[in-house]
Amino acid sequence: MPPDHDLTDVVDVNYLPLQGLQPGLRGQCWLVLFEGQVVLNDEVSGENFLWYSLDKFLLAIKQEAIVTGYLHDRAVGIVELSRLTVEAGTASVRALMSVSDSTVYSFLSHGLQILTSRKEYAFCGCCGHQTQEKAGEWAMVCVQCGHHAYPRISPCIIVLVTRGDEMLLVRHHRHGKESTMHTLVAGFVEPGESAEEAVHREVLEETGLTLGKLHYCFSQSWPFPHSLMMGFHGEYKAGELVLEEKELCFGGWFHRDNPPDLPPEFTIARKLLDFIR
Ligand SMILES: [Zn+2]
Repeated sequence: MPPDHDLTDVVDVNYLPLQGLQPGLRGQCWLVLFEGQVVLNDEVSGENFLWYSLDKFLLAIKQEAIVTGYLHDRAVGIVELSRLTVEAGTASVRALMSVSDSTVYSFLSHGLQILTSRKEYAFCGCCGHQTQEKAGEWAMVCVQCGHHAYPRISPCIIVLVTRGDEMLLVRHHRHGKESTMHTLVAGFVEPGESAEEAVHREVLEETGLTLGKLHYCFSQSWPFPHSLMMGFHGEYKAGELVLEEKELCFGGWFHRDNPPDLPPEFTIARKLLDFIR
């Protein structure tokens, strides 16, 4: 049984997403992306992933810059380049997130998802015509039929299963044969399911186990590409471990004092493990 969780520990209101701004180069600083990587600023001033002018990039911007909100009292936005016109280092968003505080994490996650939604909904999913931004909201609206497409948020569950002092950890094929990282059972919530039902189903499908008590802990936005991870702690009830081998290459019980390689600290999987341990 986890301790009572104080939600004020994890609620972050320092990054304020903006709605209602018209597109344009009105931000005071910018997150610049090229081929999925963040272009690093060598004019170091504050965070080195923010640019204070877009002059160097204006000819190479793939689409309109989007002001997304306020970060540390500055208007900030996001742009994607069609080509890189300056010599600059790059970093993956995940790498930046791994060293960010929760405020910067929120900014990165929000900006990336807004950019993704602008690309995914450039054309109407109902009639195929072009869309345009809706003033005051993050929606894209079809110019022909008026269909509204809001940024997609995909609910996922992730669950730490415990049996006494033991934790259930798994390894996924998708992390590659070389990876030694052990993580938690996770999966998308399916249509018609509650988050709790999804936890019970995923644990049964992937491991053959059934759960007793289930506790919601906290959540994390995960912008690869648009998940909302809802973290749970479930107590083992019954069953023998039988892996779903299409997804998992390993699963086993580990004593909480003797864990194997775990996910990075900024991930919700690790936060759940640390929370319980
Ligand atoms: Zn349409």
